[in-house]
Amino acid sequence: MKVSVWYNNEEIRIEEVPRPKPGDKEMLVKVISCGICGSDIVEWYRLPRAPLVPGHEMGAEVVEVGKSVLAYKVGDRVFIAPKVPCMKCYYCKSGHYPVCSNVRERLPGGFAEYVLVPEALVENGTYRLPDNMTYDQSTFIEPLACVVRAQRLAGVRRNQTVMVMGSGMSGLLHVKLAKAKHCRVIATDINRKKLEIAGKMGADITLDAAENIPEQLAAESKRMADVVFLCTSAMTAVDQAWKCVDKGGAIVFFAVPHPDKKVTIPINNFWTRETRIVTSYYCAPPDIDAAINLIETQTIEVDDLITGRLPLQNIAEGFRMVIEGHESLKVIIKPQL
Ligand SMILES: [Zn+2]
Ligand SMILES: [Zn+2]
Repeated sequence: MKVSVWYNNEEIRIEEVPRPKPGDKEMLVKVISCGICGSDIVEWYRLPRAPLVPGHEMGAEVVEVGKSVLAYKVGDRVFIAPKVPCMKCYYCKSGHYPVCSNVRERLPGGFAEYVLVPEALVENGTYRLPDNMTYDQSTFIEPLACVVRAQRLAGVRRNQTVMVMGSGMSGLLHVKLAKAKHCRVIATDINRKKLEIAGKMGADITLDAAENIPEQLAAESKRMADVVFLCTSAMTAVDQAWKCVDKGGAIVFFAVPHPDKKVTIPINNFWTRETRIVTSYYCAPPDIDAAINLIETQTIEVDDLITGRLPLQNIAEGFRMVIEGHESLKVIIKPQL
C-alpha cells in the first residue's frame, strides 16, 4: 500500500509499504478523507519525530477486524482519535486529558491508503460517524474538538465579545463556534481575502492586522474583548493581543510563536486588571463528542471551509497550498482517488 512520508515541508515522498494485517484486537481501516492540519506544516513541532507519516484528521471505512473485535464490523464508517488518554491518572481525573501520563498507543498517520488501528484506539478512540456526516465533514471532528476545548477552558459564554486573531482554518472555526454561542465576534488577519471570508462566516467586525488592532477595536467597540484567541504564531499578534483584552478577560494561546521567540507578558498591568492567560493544547474525548454533535446537527457548517481535495500522490501540492495559505483553508487528501 502507499503511504506518504514527511521528511520536512520540502520533502514528502510516496513510499510503498506492506499492507498491515490486524491482530486479534486490532482492525484495519481504509482512509477515505484526511485533512491537512495547520500543525502538520509546523516544522519545529514535527521535525523531532521525522520521518513520519502525518495525518490525524481522518475519516475511514473499516475493512478488516481482528477476531476479538466485537464493537465494529467491516463497512463501518469511523473517525479515529490520534491517541487516547487513560481516563484514570491524576491529570485525566482533573480534566487535563491532553497531558495524560499513560498514553499507550498512537494511530499511524492517515496520509496512507490503509491504517492499522491499535488495540487502545479500537477500545476507546474509535467513533462511528453519524449517517448524515460525510467522510469529508468527519475530517473536521479533531480540529473542531480542539476549538471546543479552547473555548471551554477560556469559559466563553453567551453575549461575550470574542476576538479571533488570525483567520485561517482554526481561526474560522473559532469564529463559527463563538457565533453559535451568540457572542459578538471580531476577527483579524493580515490577508484581506481571509478577512472577507471571516465576515461571510459570521464575524461581526473584521480588522486588518497590519494596522493598529487595539486602536481599531477601541474605535469600533465600547469594550475590549472578553476573550482573545491567538490563532496565529505571529509575534505582532501576541503584542496586539495584550492590548485588546478587557478587564477580567482572558487571552488564549491556541497557537504559539516559534520556540526561539521570547514572549514578554505585561504582568503588572494584567495583575491589576485580573487578566488570565490560558493555553489550550489538542483535545479530549468530551470535546470530540461535542464536535461530532456540532457537525451532525449542522450547528457548525464545515463544507464551506473545504477548498481542495487531492489524491495521495499530490500531497506535496496540498502541503504547499496550506503553507502558502493565500486561497486555501482546508485541504483534504483522498487516498482512494
Ligand atoms: Zn489537527
Ligand atoms: Zn491519564
